[in-house]
Amino acid sequence: MYPTQKKPENENLVIKNAYDDLLSHCKNFSETDLALINKAFEKAEYYHRNDYRKSGEPYILHPIAVAKIVAKEIGVDAVSIACALLHDTVEDTNYTLEEIEQDFNFAIKHIIDGLTKIKGVYEKKDSTYKVENIRKILIALGDDIRVIIVKIADRLHNMRTLDSMVEKKQLEISSETMYLYIPIAHRLGLYRIKSELEDLCMKFTQREEYKEVASKLASTKVSREKFIADFIAPLDEKLSKAGLSKYKIFGRPKHIYSIWNKIKNKHVPFEEIYDLFAIRILIDAPPEKEKEECWKAYSVITDIYNTNPDRLRDWISNPKGNGYESLHTTVMSKEGKWVEVQIRTVRMDEIAERGVAAHWKYKGSKAEGKFDSWLESVREILKNPQQSAMELLKDFRYNLYEEELHIFTPKGELKILPKNSTVLDFAFAIHSNLGSNCIGGKINSRLLPISHKLNNYDQVEILTSKKQKPSEDWLNFTVTSKARTKIRTELKSERKKVAEDGKEIFERKMKSMKVTINQKLVDELVNYLKLVDATDLFYRIAIKQIDLNDLKALLVNGDKITPIKELKKTEPIGDSLHIEGKKINDADLNIFEGFANDIDYSVSKCCHPVAGDDVFGFITISKGINIHRKDCPNAPDLITRYSYRVVNIKWAKSSKDVLYLTRLTINGIDDMGLVNKLTSIISSELKINMRAISLNAKDGIFEGDIQVYVKDTKQANLLIKKLTELDGIYSVKRISNVDV
Ligand code: MN
Repeated sequence: MYPTQKKPENENLVIKNAYDDLLSHCKNFSETDLALINKAFEKAEYYHRNDYRKSGEPYILHPIAVAKIVAKEIGVDAVSIACALLHDTVEDTNYTLEEIEQDFNFAIKHIIDGLTKIKGVYEKKDSTYKVENIRKILIALGDDIRVIIVKIADRLHNMRTLDSMVEKKQLEISSETMYLYIPIAHRLGLYRIKSELEDLCMKFTQREEYKEVASKLASTKVSREKFIADFIAPLDEKLSKAGLSKYKIFGRPKHIYSIWNKIKNKHVPFEEIYDLFAIRILIDAPPEKEKEECWKAYSVITDIYNTNPDRLRDWISNPKGNGYESLHTTVMSKEGKWVEVQIRTVRMDEIAERGVAAHWKYKGSKAEGKFDSWLESVREILKNPQQSAMELLKDFRYNLYEEELHIFTPKGELKILPKNSTVLDFAFAIHSNLGSNCIGGKINSRLLPISHKLNNYDQVEILTSKKQKPSEDWLNFTVTSKARTKIRTELKSERKKVAEDGKEIFERKMKSMKVTINQKLVDELVNYLKLVDATDLFYRIAIKQIDLNDLKALLVNGDKITPIKELKKTEPIGDSLHIEGKKINDADLNIFEGFANDIDYSVSKCCHPVAGDDVFGFITISKGINIHRKDCPNAPDLITRYSYRVVNIKWAKSSKDVLYLTRLTINGIDDMGLVNKLTSIISSELKINMRAISLNAKDGIFEGDIQVYVKDTKQANLLIKKLTELDGIYSVKRISNVDV
């Protein structure tokens, strides 16, 4: 054995305190469980004895903190806690998997093995973020879910301590968290952790907005608490007389990110968001009385407040796909503000906050069955080739904030589908053959096309024909991964058949040109034409998308055949791209100053940044650096998968005479001479160049769309302020997409 290096006294004390704190959250464990945790701690402490974190703390504090999250905030078994303590040993120390199996057992080795295989963007040794990694994570999900639970706890602790990293790392880690871990946490129902991760990501990627919402929340806290107390008082009085089991009633603030999302998506100012908080009624009811007591509480609420029937959500009778159960209603308060009230039992609350972790405690519940069948479908999808792992992830991401639909078969069987699902999605959800042959659906005796979007509680009969088969455009109106995976698989095999014809045509042509065909030639062509693979090439030849005469021009120079080697190849994507002879490193670039002056850059068309926006640079192959806003919808994907192409960009303080196109939407009361008023502010007063203006009025309300060229965000904000001050203008917002 190695001699243990002696740590300074105070370090040992800090470690001991942290570990004692962890143990204080393990009180309900058996002797055997505690012995396991102790042993894991001893091993981890020993193997990490010489390691320190970036912040200068002893490394072991990190695994202890992760174990504490697992024990206290997620609340799973002793094996998970032990694995959390050991999670970095195999990766970072000389402790091996074999030794772990000897010291512990196979299950623990298996979990640590899974944890070691999953790499974060910032841990990876090679530069590309492999789809394979995502696949590994999803496989672990279907294999032993504790791997993912420890991984999410690890990520949460890293996000909490992200301040000690440099800015580029912060952006990378936050992006990966948004791209991968938040959707998974959501899908596992780890709501509390998901919310915290979202807030942390926002803190590091949209600092200004985060600070703004946080400070507004803080400054309105006192009045909000008073409002909540006034709202609750009459309810509490009546509930206590209603003969319910023990209950609690309280207000719960929404998290910053969800408030910000509302501000952004619904274009309403902070002051007008009615659900900055929700009222929650938590009932400690015995299992057989859960439903009854929740509805009893609902009935008490309706005695006191008027409810909005459109906003009643009964997830008790029909839990969400991730197991969430709760009864929600929105009522009108005495002050004339809508208030959301959530009614649930203690058990439902634990499932809502801790998702999959709580299922262990409540075996056999309705929600647990839902969860298991979902895991089953994950395993099913993962049996398919690589690409489907990405599809599956997209599906998680897509469903993040969308509501679910409850759709019935003609026999009354219920299927849960994501919002925007179509007749075709439903057909695939029932059976893949039914999907592949689907020609339409019947809803309330009405015949509807396969692309028809379903409404909640539709009862749908699927119509099929043996002659029907999937086509490319089906991908345009399907949203479920099951449908999309199946469509792609079938298209692929169809494509293969067509490609075989293409190959024959190609071979004939080459023969007539006296070109010898070999793999190298095919590869060069695929490369040159920027295609995916040989099948792609042959397929395009078969459907005449690639003209063989073009191909001829490529290969034949005058009357001589050019050796194929001289074909211009596409540039490779590498770790360090050279732009105009300069190597771009991680160094911050000051885009209009210093050496960045001779760098080719462009603003991205997806988010249209303006000088002053929080941005990053993305190195493109042929067009220099593309500037994106950090909150660009494409940012998490770009940064996670191509982190080595991302550079930090800061706008120079003194802006040069560069103008950026941006777009505003305006709405308000229709008024004579409005266009004049608007244009006089824009053109005469602020001397801003306008590119387009369009106003639409209907029933006295107008909506306008204005595209202008501005110098920077300061000028854009001034314009917004001036326009908002106009009589009759209700709101002015900058929106990111600009049609070009
Ligand atoms: Mn770690």
